[in-house]
Amino acid sequence: MEKSLQSRRKAFLFGHLSIQQRLPLFICILLLIVVTAFSCVSYIEVKNASMAAARERVTTLADKLTLMFKGSVDQYVDTLGKVANNKDVKEFIKSGSVGAHARSLELFQTFFKKDTTNKLLQILDRSKNTVIRLGDNSLDLKLNIDSMPMSAINVANMGGAGRFVLYKGSMYYPVGAAVIDSNKVIGYVVDWKLLRGTKQSVEQLGQLLGANGRLFFGNDDNSFWTNMVQPVAKPSVALARLQQVAEYTRQSGGPVVGSVRKIPDSRWLILVEFSSRTFLETANVYLRWVTIIGIVLVVAGSFGGWMLSRSMTAPIDELGRAASAIADGDYSAVAQVRRKDEVGQLAESFNIMAARVRQAQQGLEQKVEETEKELQTAITGINDQKENEKKKDEFISIASHELKTPLTTIKAFFQLAVKEMQPEFKTFSLIHRASRQLTRMERLIEDLLDVSKINSGKMQYDLEDFDFQQALKEAVDSVQQIFPDHSLVIEHSASVIVHGDRHRIEQVIINLLNNAVKYSPGADKVLIRSELVGGHLMVTIEDFGIGIDEQHIGELFDRFYRVNSDRHFQGLGLGLFISSEIIKRHGGSIKVESEPGKGSAFTFELPVTMLN
Ligand code: ADP
Repeated sequence: MEKSLQSRRKAFLFGHLSIQQRLPLFICILLLIVVTAFSCVSYIEVKNASMAAARERVTTLADKLTLMFKGSVDQYVDTLGKVANNKDVKEFIKSGSVGAHARSLELFQTFFKKDTTNKLLQILDRSKNTVIRLGDNSLDLKLNIDSMPMSAINVANMGGAGRFVLYKGSMYYPVGAAVIDSNKVIGYVVDWKLLRGTKQSVEQLGQLLGANGRLFFGNDDNSFWTNMVQPVAKPSVALARLQQVAEYTRQSGGPVVGSVRKIPDSRWLILVEFSSRTFLETANVYLRWVTIIGIVLVVAGSFGGWMLSRSMTAPIDELGRAASAIADGDYSAVAQVRRKDEVGQLAESFNIMAARVRQAQQGLEQKVEETEKELQTAITGINDQKENEKKKDEFISIASHELKTPLTTIKAFFQLAVKEMQPEFKTFSLIHRASRQLTRMERLIEDLLDVSKINSGKMQYDLEDFDFQQALKEAVDSVQQIFPDHSLVIEHSASVIVHGDRHRIEQVIINLLNNAVKYSPGADKVLIRSELVGGHLMVTIEDFGIGIDEQHIGELFDRFYRVNSDRHFQGLGLGLFISSEIIKRHGGSIKVESEPGKGSAFTFELPVTMLN
């Protein structure tokens, strides 16, 4: 859920795009939003203003044209009224005299002929019966005089224009005037006129109105509408709405703005109509310009954004290039950014950091070189040391072998001499001491021989099951004989059978006992314990001598290692090395616990075959 939210946020913020692409895109979108919003709002404003102007124009024109056409109607009625109110006409209507009839007829004919649009003239008496009829007799135009407006045109005349009538494809309208005698209507004169506008005249009228305006005439009962050339469809909205201004659609001409007025003194309506498109043209032109300017702005803005982001990201790219070069091991790489802004500072810090890395790297390389040299020297040293050790081992091996044979002969000679010589002889004690020194020498050579055997892996072990208790006792007794001034006390002796080389194990015990005595110049007691612990035999030889400092304990079992190399304690530093090797070969271990000035306790541990 969290992940998908993150990825959605990422996608929204163009996380997958580079910074260089993101900034211009962001500016482009921002400008698009601003330009679109501004264009829409201002277009709506301009459109509303245009439509308001259209409504204003329609209203004004409708009002003016109403007055104009009222004037025309009044003029018609006035002209007709003058004829109608002729004294001969009045006399004829009142008396029906033949003379008045003839004169009236002549008057009417003269009037009738003056205008070719006059098609039928009817004179009605008081009872609204036609008494004279002039003009086209085939015109069967039904007249309802009551539907004619009889408005007071001026002091002398009353009358008005009646509704349009379509008859055999032509349009007619009646203009009527009352015949008044002594303030009483005694008859009517009705002039049926042909409505005959030409296309040209209609177009001229349109041009006069301007802005593709059109003018329609209609009956006040909305039964008929014409553009003065032919009948036209009714407006598609209710008349009540048209009395103000209404917007609607004309089937043939798209959206229009129109307004209707009643022409006084007539049963006519006029409708002034303007095509909305004409007025919206301004708004559309405005929109077109705003769109063009908007596109230019978006393109320029995006380009500017791209340039800006390029100038911002170029140094970052340069930094990245330098960083990758350093990552690839080229520590001489430098970010070439010459700017004083934040990125410039970053680049400067980066270059300082790179210089430090370079220094550190060089330092490290130098150190590695030195260490390598030291290592090489050390290796050479070790090799030399190994070589020396090898030579030493070879020498020890040869020397000990070569010394052993003459020593054995000398020892045999001295033993014979001691046997043969009387103890009273002065030289006896000297020979006896020399013989003891020979035994010591023999032990030293034995040790050297053992070391070379261990080194060459040729140490032989005669393995057998032996009684450890007995072996321990014999070893202790033999050492006790040599050192009668010390008392070697077996505190506890476990009775077990050990599988191993009895002679070598005894050698270990004797070694440890010799050391215990040797390094106890101020004490005369050595304690010996052997016990079974957890199925293992633990043998401890404890003395109360000089003890060993802790720092030496780790190396005590190494070859030729001696804590006190002074002449006071003689030795080669081999006894503990040989002993620990023997114990290890028997699957055991050896350790020491010691305190300087108090004494030492050496313990070796051996696996036990069985209890005795
Ligand atoms: P060394 O011939 O010198 O006795 P060892 O290998 O037997 O050689 O002993 C090594 C060293 O350990 C001796 O030089 C001595 O300093 C020390 N050491 C051995 N046993 C004892 C002990 N019981 N008390 C004190 N020091 C001892």
